[in-house]
Amino acid sequence: MNEQLIFLNGEFVPKHEAKVSVYDHGYLYGDGVFEGIRVYSGNVFRLKEHLVRLFESAKSILLEIPYTLEELTELVAETIRKNQLSDGYIRLVVSRGTGNLGLDPASCPVATVVIIAEQLALFPAEFYETGIPIITVATRRNRPDVLSPQVKSLNYLNNILVKIEAKLAGVLEALMLNEQGYVAEGSGDNVFLVKGNKLITPPSSAGALEGITRNAIMEIGKKFGYDVREELFTRHDVYVADEVFLTGTAAEVIAVTKVDGRTIGDGKPGAHTNRLLEEFRKLVVEDGEKIYTADQVG
Ligand code: PMP
Repeated sequence: MNEQLIFLNGEFVPKHEAKVSVYDHGYLYGDGVFEGIRVYSGNVFRLKEHLVRLFESAKSILLEIPYTLEELTELVAETIRKNQLSDGYIRLVVSRGTGNLGLDPASCPVATVVIIAEQLALFPAEFYETGIPIITVATRRNRPDVLSPQVKSLNYLNNILVKIEAKLAGVLEALMLNEQGYVAEGSGDNVFLVKGNKLITPPSSAGALEGITRNAIMEIGKKFGYDVREELFTRHDVYVADEVFLTGTAAEVIAVTKVDGRTIGDGKPGAHTNRLLEEFRKLVVEDGEKIYTADQVG
């Protein structure tokens, strides 16, 4: 197999040559933004929404992306084609660029832009059949007035600490609460509860990223006649939900079978979660934005 090609600052380079400077403020300070995107059967799922979110994150931190949205759209497509990847994950990173050791971004004249396209399965396939146990952790979500969770920045320490706590407790994922003790989201995914006919997810003001998978599930939920709500909820509400599941580009839709030792429902992925997952899997290949059909790849 040919070596993977990475887009790096205007050119495609083999993976082993894809290197950035130790003076890049992305490395020194986590100064930058990113997106995780998926391609399904040659269709990039909701690329425009991802790119709009990237540009909004960049605007928020006064980072100038040296490409237009249309140019980035084409560069993502080109990265997929060059790597002949009809199903996979795309990581788009824009960091402040190379500067000096000072904090001031003025020393970084141009942003560093990286696009990686590769295979990825966040959780082993069997967990989509069995669901996963999770916990809630002591690490709280960043306060929105300190570093907004809507800025998908390279500062992911908050999320990394959640992952570490989860792994130390022997589970793969965990929920963080916000500063008031309401449930916010997972380390890299949003959370939903099913209770009767209600499909509930925390509002973004609770510290939840407005996930693109979350949006898709809310749309599907409305279409199926659920009472879809963005509402604050507590750990108690999670424990007594009929079903709990997580959503994210990497995680897709995954059932949660236990939270802090409390079995959810009958401890197996529930019928609602399975139905939403099935519809989501249809949507990702059938969705309107078929920019790159499978035969264009390669
Ligand atoms: N929350 C966080 C903290 C995330 O990093 C992600 C992954 N981007 C999500 C939620 C899910 O968002 P999306 O569905 O857009 O991938």
